[in-house]
Amino acid sequence: MKRKQQQELVSLKDIRYVLLDMDGTLLDKHFDDYFWEHLLPEKYAEKNCISFGKAKDKLLNKYKMHEGTLNWTDIDFWSREVEIDIPALKAQIHHLIEVHPHVEDFLRMLRRHRKKVFLVTNAHYKVLEMKLRKTELGKYFDAALTSCEIGYPKEMLAFWEKAQKKLGFDREATLFVDDTEAVLTTAQQYGIRYILYKAIASSQSEKGASSKFPAIDDFGQLMFLDRKVKV
Ligand SMILES: [Mg+2]
Repeated sequence: MKRKQQQELVSLKDIRYVLLDMDGTLLDKHFDDYFWEHLLPEKYAEKNCISFGKAKDKLLNKYKMHEGTLNWTDIDFWSREVEIDIPALKAQIHHLIEVHPHVEDFLRMLRRHRKKVFLVTNAHYKVLEMKLRKTELGKYFDAALTSCEIGYPKEMLAFWEKAQKKLGFDREATLFVDDTEAVLTTAQQYGIRYILYKAIASSQSEKGASSKFPAIDDFGQLMFLDRKVKV
């Protein structure tokens, strides 16, 4: 979207809390896509002596059944479901974990302005730990909250009710950025005031857009907030 529209939408002085999704928003979703759509089907095929295509079909059906639920986010559930050690398999490709461009500039800017910054993710705590260890982004956050800890995925209103009690943010002074429209829709219903869609979730994906929410492709597009405050 155009900078002028963004300025109208978000002004740093109106924001005291920033909630950020992890996968696809701060980190390149290529890691997750490669894992679920390529590596796991490959291992599942080997284990069950079936073709890659058949394994992928079976897994995609399973994914669909649990999409938007707490099971989807729970890698221990998936380890049991497919009888493969998912955390160990993810660790094998940890070199694919990458931070999106300008994310660190944006996070540093938020720290400079003493905003309260929270990571809110559907990722399992084991995956969260692995990714924070690799990226060293943990130092920029006041806290990280996972849907496992809350007991509901971000797609459900109950997540936001409990998250607010735990983190103590004021929804009228909160900016939330996520790459999943269903999550943003729930956050908006809950009353989070400033909502942004992160359009380019994976370095391998085409440029996306949202018909419902203002969007950014890159966190560099939000750095104007810093300049605006300085003048
Ligand atoms: Mg995401």
